[in-house]
Amino acid sequence: MRGRSWQTFAVAMAVMIAAYQVLPDDPVWTTSWQVGIGWAGTVAVAVGVRRLPSCDRLPWWCFALGIFANSTGIAVAVYADTVLGWEDMPTPADPFFLTLYPACALGLALLIRRREPGGNWTAMVDATTITTGLGLLAWVYVIQPAAQDADMSLLGRTVQVAYPVGDLLLLAMLTRLLRAGGVRGASFWWIAGSLGAFLAGDTAWVVLGNLGEAGIRLEETLPFRRGIDMIFLIAFVLFGVGALHAHARDLSRPTVPRPPRLGGLQLLALTVATLIAPAILAGQLIAGEVTDGAAVVVGSTALFLLVVARMAQLVRQVEQQARQVRELSRTDELTGLPNRRAWNDELPKALERSRRDGQPICVAVLDLDHFKLFNDSYGHPAGDRLLKEASAAWHEALRRVDTIARYGGEEFAVLLPGADLDEAGATVGRALAVTPLGQTFSAGIAVWDGTETSDELVERADAALYAAKAAGRNRLVAAGSAPDARVRSSALPG
Ligand code: GH3
Ligand code: MG
Ligand code: MG
Repeated sequence: MRGRSWQTFAVAMAVMIAAYQVLPDDPVWTTSWQVGIGWAGTVAVAVGVRRLPSCDRLPWWCFALGIFANSTGIAVAVYADTVLGWEDMPTPADPFFLTLYPACALGLALLIRRREPGGNWTAMVDATTITTGLGLLAWVYVIQPAAQDADMSLLGRTVQVAYPVGDLLLLAMLTRLLRAGGVRGASFWWIAGSLGAFLAGDTAWVVLGNLGEAGIRLEETLPFRRGIDMIFLIAFVLFGVGALHAHARDLSRPTVPRPPRLGGLQLLALTVATLIAPAILAGQLIAGEVTDGAAVVVGSTALFLLVVARMAQLVRQVEQQARQVRELSRTDELTGLPNRRAWNDELPKALERSRRDGQPICVAVLDLDHFKLFNDSYGHPAGDRLLKEASAAWHEALRRVDTIARYGGEEFAVLLPGADLDEAGATVGRALAVTPLGQTFSAGIAVWDGTETSDELVERADAALYAAKAAGRNRLVAAGSAPDARVRSSALPG
């Protein structure tokens, strides 16, 4: 029953909103109908809120306050107009209407903060870009003209300007919410829909106000005026639906912030927003008089800076990902050691350093003894575990300056800078002694002769490894330096 309450409420409200179109043309009827629906939305939010954990409730109380005040304002406006004969702005209804904006903006801010406690800089830049573009449009065609309305008192003008500013505030929070990550259940979309409806309703009034004669005629057309009223009624109701829906619980769930996607639609929105400034300027140039040059300069400067900020973010993101990919491509997944690619990259550099410093350098190639048998006896996963544990133990036993890499299956390569054959033998011998689970390895060790290539050096160490295997395993063999006698076959101390 509980789970269905949002559907019952939604259907009942849909019927009420549809019936609004055919109500008698009497302010008592229409006003009580609108206020009734607004209050029903408020009650629905209050009922939904009580099902949420107390720490998740505050944003919803803000939304409830917003729609309660806004819908109550409808009754206050009619009372001020018909009973008090109060026509000039501001009317006593304005504070009620205007409460919607800060209340919902605060609710959204709290919600965004709970969803992404670490913030989301990219989502913020995107939201600011879209709001700045549309803000410039609002400034030129709505805010500036309203602020200069000579027929109105200063307070009246301030109140008139507060509406579009409130809309921009809601737009900023809505785009920020939409650009961020986090769970997007049904409640998320009901809330987004509600805010979208408020913005659409307010925009419809602004457009109507700018249509002149045609606007006035449309406003006097009953179904049209009621159509706009219905947009606001839908907005009141959607908050209630969102609060009653079971997904309201998920809305405050925190997520790890990640850079938002930049799909076709998002890119289009950002492009349109940034093109508003030149479009306004072009329009005024065509009309023959640039009236808002300063606003266009300020707006386009802000937009340029935002685009540069976004670009810098993207570049940094790409660089960071490239570093991660490079790191991954050089690391062995199983053991976490450098892999053969990293080894091949590092060895020539190490030889070059050794040449510069005049220090000896050794390379050892290790291969687990009878590892196939170990796999066959204990299973492949146990073989994997041995590889992990053995490589960790060897890494511990080596000197801090040494590097051990996974060269292939159960073969490892060790770089021992600054070590001669004796020191290298002692070091690798320590590693052999700590091999876990009673296992052993054989190793070939070669000291760099100062001229050979890294491939030739590894080849010599490899040949010594085979000699160690041939000699019975579980031992270290030093490679000979003479080209025709590559293996000196002498077991090192270990
Ligand atoms: P030897 O003493 O001569 O080196 O004998 P061996 O059995 O160690 O050598 P062989 O080359 O015959 O077998 C190597 C085995 O290593 C075969 C292969 O299945 C196993 N192996 C290679 N990579 C992995 C791995 O990532 N995990 C596991 N579990 N086994 C691996
Ligand atoms: Mg082996
Ligand atoms: Mg092998």
